Amino acid sequence: MKKFKAESRRLLELMINSIYTNKEIFLRELISNASDAIDKLHFISLTDEGASRDFAIRIDIDEAARTLTISDNGIGMSEKELEDNLGTIANSGTFKFKAEHKTDEELIGQFGVGFYSAFMVADKVEVVSKRYGEDEAYKWTSCGADGYEIEKSEREQSGSTVTLYLKPNEDDNQTDNYLSEWHIGELVKKYSDFIRYPINMECTGQRKKEGTDEWEEFKELRTLNSRTPIWKKAKGSVSQKDYFDFYRNRYYDMEDPLHYFAASTEGALTYNALIYVPQKAPYDYYSEGFRRGLSLYVNGVLIMDKCEDLLPPYLGFLRGVVDSSDLSLNISREMLQKDRQLKALAQGIQKRIVGEFKKLLSSDREKYDKLFAEYGASIKFGVYDSFGAKKDEYKDLIMFRTSKSEGLSTLSEYVSRMKEGQTEIYYASGKSIEAIERTPQVEGMKAKDTEILYLTDNIDEFVMQVLREYDGKKLTPVSAAGEKESDGSFDGLLKFMTKALDGKVKAVRLNSGIGSYPSCITAEGEISFEMERIMRAMPNGNGIKATRVLEINPRHDIIVRAKDLLDTDEDRLTAITKILYGEAQILAGLELDESADFVVNLNKMI
Ligand code: ADP
Repeated sequence: MKKFKAESRRLLELMINSIYTNKEIFLRELISNASDAIDKLHFISLTDEGASRDFAIRIDIDEAARTLTISDNGIGMSEKELEDNLGTIANSGTFKFKAEHKTDEELIGQFGVGFYSAFMVADKVEVVSKRYGEDEAYKWTSCGADGYEIEKSEREQSGSTVTLYLKPNEDDNQTDNYLSEWHIGELVKKYSDFIRYPINMECTGQRKKEGTDEWEEFKELRTLNSRTPIWKKAKGSVSQKDYFDFYRNRYYDMEDPLHYFAASTEGALTYNALIYVPQKAPYDYYSEGFRRGLSLYVNGVLIMDKCEDLLPPYLGFLRGVVDSSDLSLNISREMLQKDRQLKALAQGIQKRIVGEFKKLLSSDREKYDKLFAEYGASIKFGVYDSFGAKKDEYKDLIMFRTSKSEGLSTLSEYVSRMKEGQTEIYYASGKSIEAIERTPQVEGMKAKDTEILYLTDNIDEFVMQVLREYDGKKLTPVSAAGEKESDGSFDGLLKFMTKALDGKVKAVRLNSGIGSYPSCITAEGEISFEMERIMRAMPNGNGIKATRVLEINPRHDIIVRAKDLLDTDEDRLTAITKILYGEAQILAGLELDESADFVVNLNKMI
């Protein structure tokens, strides 16, 4: 007997002892393996006639022997493949990773567990398989965690036959159900209705004996699944519930999707697409290992489960399928990337997605708000990506908090509220709304009843830089909008202060638009303070520094009196200058560059 690899053994033990209440999903897993195996041979059969046959999956029930058998005439497995695929479960490593964050129940429900799930309901599993193109068949047998055996066997066609020797019927494991034709039929409908190949089972029917009134039983082979993929059905014939069920089963999500839409076009490019917006981003969406993509089918044949090229990274949270008859079936993965048809397909689909989002924004704001709360940062990235190549498509989809609106506002909503004579769109950025509202520049502008966009996402300012303007209105940071004055009487003070700050700021200027504050600090040039903070957190970003300018309010009492110190008490004025600079840093959310100095100077005044 051979032993399972350590990780596989753990997973297997988990299955065997599982108290998972939804054990019936084992059937879905085995049918999906069978369907995958047929897909592989179907694919070969497109170029190799010898491989074509009546593809089907077959289920057999043997009540007396208490066995349930799932067979397919797909690609099958060689001796080595039986060993490699069933002796070591390839993704047990990922499984282990996921297992650390989830309960049994969530784990199995969300991800499925493949072949080993058979051990939730069976105490012995046999797989007889013959690989397409080979002469010998082999049998893999296992009674659980101890190990497995592989021996020579018999099988006519290529394919696999998986036989489950069901566990005894118990309170928490009603294995008798899996010997019931009716129950199996229900499970297939529930989980595997859209499997493209017929799932056949010998079923018992009742009929009147010819010429008599007596009933008799008869057997006939019935196809249990309806087969037509949901995305190929006419929209009117599929209910929302069907679309939701399909989503939950296919993506192992316990929740219904937030939104879905089906799209089909004919003409230059023919395709059917079914796209879903999950309620929540996939748990690994922001991790490096995340793989985005829509499933790509050509005329109902799965070509690629996650075709990255169909979705840009910032729409990677979407799930769904695309089925087109315009691509060549024989296309290889490498060729696919360069394929012009695929590029056109991707563009068409992205247009549809943007169109759908816009429709949602205007017709169901509540839903769009939810969508944006979950995926807003991604959508903003759509504006920013590739130096703004798609900014015109995405600019109407982004939203921000503002100084006047309770919820989020689009740029067009902001523009519609602009006051007479206002020609620019103002924004302020910071770590939080509270921090933004504390800045002197924002207070000054709010006092004049001018609306300000509040930018709190890391990407926001980059988006502003790429957009530059919206609807002909320049996007302007509040720091650049103040009322910069040139009142010659302050020249001496400005000069003194600049010198006192000794290179820490590029200049000291006047700004009377900062409300009740005597001073504020602004960044001059391309790099703002928020950008400085974000970029410094990145590798190699340490040297990044925004150019600082101190602005003082000539209408503020402190500044007016400071001017009087010019000729009388330069020491005191130097200390005041440093305190004003420190205060401005604090209000801008910056770290004090000389905190000890600041305290010393402050104490002098006290
Ligand atoms: P997964 O299907 O997620 O890869 P499984 O544990 O269900 O994981 O199966 C492991 C592997 O065993 C599959 O990837 C496949 O290569 C092989 N396999 C399972 N069932 C069959 C089958 N009926 N025919 C051919 N190969 C199969």
